[in-house]
Amino acid sequence: MSDTKKRILSGMRPTGKLHIGHLVGALENWVALQDRYQNFHLIADYHALTTNLDTTELYQNSLDMVIDWLAAGIDPAKSPVFRQSQVKEHTELHLIFSMLVTTARLERNPTLKDQVRDLNMETLVYGHLGYPVLQAADILLYKGEVVPVGEDQVPHIEITREIARRFNNQWGEVFPEPEPKLTKFARLAGLDGGQKMSKSLGNTILLSDTPEEIQKKMRTAVTDTQKVRKNDPGRPDVCVVFSYHQKFNPAEVPEIRRDCESGALGCVACKLNCSAKVAAVLAPVRERRAALEADMDHVLDVLRTGEAAARAEAARTMEQVREAMKVGAVKTESINVR
Ligand code: SF4
Repeated sequence: MSDTKKRILSGMRPTGKLHIGHLVGALENWVALQDRYQNFHLIADYHALTTNLDTTELYQNSLDMVIDWLAAGIDPAKSPVFRQSQVKEHTELHLIFSMLVTTARLERNPTLKDQVRDLNMETLVYGHLGYPVLQAADILLYKGEVVPVGEDQVPHIEITREIARRFNNQWGEVFPEPEPKLTKFARLAGLDGGQKMSKSLGNTILLSDTPEEIQKKMRTAVTDTQKVRKNDPGRPDVCVVFSYHQKFNPAEVPEIRRDCESGALGCVACKLNCSAKVAAVLAPVRERRAALEADMDHVLDVLRTGEAAARAEAARTMEQVREAMKVGAVKTESINVR
């Protein structure tokens, strides 16, 4: 890997097989960036514990995620792929960083406020409150200068920048202040019309879905509820299927808009067409996915290699951290024996 490229840290929690929302919101962006930047791809398995203590599927979910990443085009030769839990320095740096941010600052985090709107501080676990601090450690351990994120993650990058500044002011310049890089097409609506596609909401199309599965799921997609019969004029801008056409079938968008609005196009035909286009975009991903699943030795090797590279990088940073903080190994000659 070249040292002249700027560094990117990007990661996801391993919550199961990935869906087209991940492809559109993150993976396409990561793949596009991997030639211009030096990327580190983190499987945030410890982060997953902030909201779910059931670890039964954590390992399998991590493997599924590696397969999806590689199938989507992440090149592990350019970008190490690794699990957070396998690089102990994440937790070490997290501990040091947790001394540099107040609980009041973390409680003001707007993303947290959204997530725990229905909870109170009595039920919020310490690790959930502090997860932006672990995220800061994830990013700064690799001296990440750029972090590709959606709008909702920008406040976390601000906390990372504050922590980096605080560390540098206290002990000397070790860390960069990373910049958020907003993803262009940040969010794909769920099949149910919800703002976000999410496994827990059951409104997803998976990267691994067959054309038949895609067609079946697409049948359930929410369209314009005022277009009841085929010939009723429709409003494409309130229709989830139309938003998928915009992403996966841009060439036909003007024609679909025209025919939907005039009533010449019915939702059944429109959904069938959309299913075919989504399936066509996913076909090479599914093919690569199947090949990877048939060669798990290769997938495990990708992880082993990525984790070794991440550990080496993390160890270098922690040496600098201890040196700056003067908590490193003490040289024998410097010990003042009384
Ligand atoms: S015709 Fe297509 S774009 Fe129009 S409402 Fe139906 S599914 Fe949506």
